[in-house]
Amino acid sequence: MQLLTFKGGVHPKYRKELAKDSPIKKIEPPEFIYLPLTQHTGIPSKPIIEKKDEVEVGMKIAESNGKLSVPLHSSVAGVYMGLVNWPHPLGGRKEAMKIKLDPQRTFEWKEEERDVDLFSEDQIIEIVKEAGIVGMGGAAFPTYFKMKVPPDKKIKDLIINGAECEPYLTADHRLILERAEDIFKGVEILKRVLNPERVWIAIEDNKMDAIDRIKEFSSSYPWANITIHETKYPQGSEKQLIQSITGKEVPEGGLPFDVGAYVQNVGTVIAIYEAVCYSKPLYERVVTVTGPVRDPSNFLVPIGTPFEYLIEASGGVFGGTMQIINGGPMMGIAQVYPEVPVIKGTTGILVQNEKETLEREVSPCIRCASCVDVCPMYLMPTEIYKFIELEDFEKAKELGVLSCMECGGCGYVCPSYIPLPQHFKYAKAELMKEKK
Ligand code: SF4
Ligand code: SF4
Repeated sequence: MQLLTFKGGVHPKYRKELAKDSPIKKIEPPEFIYLPLTQHTGIPSKPIIEKKDEVEVGMKIAESNGKLSVPLHSSVAGVYMGLVNWPHPLGGRKEAMKIKLDPQRTFEWKEEERDVDLFSEDQIIEIVKEAGIVGMGGAAFPTYFKMKVPPDKKIKDLIINGAECEPYLTADHRLILERAEDIFKGVEILKRVLNPERVWIAIEDNKMDAIDRIKEFSSSYPWANITIHETKYPQGSEKQLIQSITGKEVPEGGLPFDVGAYVQNVGTVIAIYEAVCYSKPLYERVVTVTGPVRDPSNFLVPIGTPFEYLIEASGGVFGGTMQIINGGPMMGIAQVYPEVPVIKGTTGILVQNEKETLEREVSPCIRCASCVDVCPMYLMPTEIYKFIELEDFEKAKELGVLSCMECGGCGYVCPSYIPLPQHFKYAKAELMKEKK
């Protein structure tokens, strides 16, 4: 078996065994849902309903508000309580639409299947936009915008990302096991729009059951090539996936289509299939809830559900909660408020207890170069860090800090426990401020 890989990367403790065997369970909605207007990269959506309006599941409640923006839909049936200033999983507080559930109005999305051949490529892109679909692997980039490939670019390699390289998270793994055929149907729609020369379905070798599941469909969908990747973080990041499959490197500041590639996560592909064939907007998603909870789970969750409600549904925490993380341990963001809601890009909720959050004392750099060896973007983290300490952000920029994808690999291996990625995030924010 040939394993594909990329240069650099780390091998953290994956701990996927906690939730990987937990089938996706649909969760009953909580009494209140909080839908932040900021759900995706770009411009937040704009509300189109009034306080006290009745809402239905899947009803459009906020419209796209600019070139890079998508609508937002209610994830429950109930009453709109107005805009509130609510904690946001990406940090701080932001405007969110609060909805009170009407428990009498239960709901299942049941629409007649539509024939995809009825739609032109432009109509498919418009359906994807109106369904509010964004990248569900965490990036939350509006999918319709990504599907509009410039006319001078040709997609040669369409890569379906089932790598799920973040430790602990298993939502995509379960989707492949439970909804493999829907993934193929979604890819057929993408193929229509992008017309690629080749299609790859990429999975890491720690998910052999998922690889076998995909292989079961190889005679029905002969255009699909399965690639098996070494389990190494961050294999699931767009650039590393492209490099390990095609051998091509996306140029600095460039995009995948500059090397003829297009990457889409498995969850997003299913959302595309449901939108185009069943008119279903993106109002729910699969979220892994894991760590020291009694019953680590993969839930199908109404978007807007508070994290604390899902942690409770997983049986609560043992060992005392010290930290709640939006996402996995490598790229996730620690939360201040447990009432923070699931958004479209929430892949998982990781809880850590006291034992797992030991504070480590930072010591001076010993110039071991471990951070240089693991950086998948070929940066010199130790050098960049030195200039950020001196607040010399221009020099950090010269050394490529803007190419840092904040994967966390350098911080993970640093024997001096220097919080390198946090420094790079800070420097990028400072450079952005200057640019503005
Ligand atoms: S410098 Fe950035 S891209 Fe490189 S390992 Fe560190 S966090 Fe990852
Ligand atoms: S890994 Fe840490 S100690 Fe080693 S060179 Fe990089 S910053 Fe210095």
